[in-house]
Amino acid sequence: MSLRFWGVRGSIPSPSPETTRYGGNTSCIEVRFGDQILILDCGSGLRALGASLNAEFKTRGFNATILISHTHWDHIQGLPFFAPAYADRNHLRIFSQAGSRTRVQKALNNQMEPMHFPVRFGELAGVAGVDELPKEGKQFGAFSVRTMNLNHPGGCAGFRLEANGTSVAYLPDHEPYRSCTLSKKATADEQSAQARLVKFVRGCDVLILDTQYDELEYPTRIGWGHGCIADSVATAVAADVGELVCFHHDPSHSDAKINEMLLRGRQLAREAGSRLHVRAAREAEQLILVGRRVAANGLRIAAA
Ligand SMILES: [Zn+2]
Ligand SMILES: [Zn+2]
Repeated sequence: MSLRFWGVRGSIPSPSPETTRYGGNTSCIEVRFGDQILILDCGSGLRALGASLNAEFKTRGFNATILISHTHWDHIQGLPFFAPAYADRNHLRIFSQAGSRTRVQKALNNQMEPMHFPVRFGELAGVAGVDELPKEGKQFGAFSVRTMNLNHPGGCAGFRLEANGTSVAYLPDHEPYRSCTLSKKATADEQSAQARLVKFVRGCDVLILDTQYDELEYPTRIGWGHGCIADSVATAVAADVGELVCFHHDPSHSDAKINEMLLRGRQLAREAGSRLHVRAAREAEQLILVGRRVAANGLRIAAA
């Protein structure tokens, strides 16, 4: 299985000389195994993925499955700029969590209403519409996909993908059920929600997890629906994952700040006596999964 990050930022695109290392585009990841293409979320990173797919397939059509975690802007705003969606030779299927189809369809229609955009969602010739995943999950070729509700205002789906003996969990927007940075004791409900989450991601080779804040910021942003480095490491260690990929970087965080959080995460993993690998998601980076061995290549984005 391979993963390629096209957008790693939360909330709003944040291009700046201070964000060139990790990137400024919002959530979008390309996942491949064999000829299967899955796309996780449609943040602004989707535009460059579209250019890359068009360069690869040229006039040949291709199939891809798009999984949408939720309809906050930073997870859907790239769709109107996804060039393959305009070509009827392509077959793009959009899936969301069980029970969310109507809401997702409405959000995608709304962002392409004439007052916002000149082309309507229904005019995208390459898009076969919005469907929802069954509660028990679904098989897409070699990929099995399961979902879980996350802790986020308005809801967000987490996805667990497995193919060829490798596994990735994608939890883009999630606030910890209980936080090790707060003195407040977790309730029984919070503890059982955390236990279910740990079970869902248990043993994953790669866990891509909302880590928007550091330990000083998080206590001032309770209820905003995002994670914190100390809690991300604690969850990854408890679930015995191979590699934690910190994701959904805060738009105000510079490359230097993310580097600082990354070092802190590695320190916390060492202090926990864990062999957990910690990295920060970086735009244009590709991860190749061969069991627990994860190889990273910094690849250049195809010229648009
Ligand atoms: Zn988000
Ligand atoms: Zn969100």
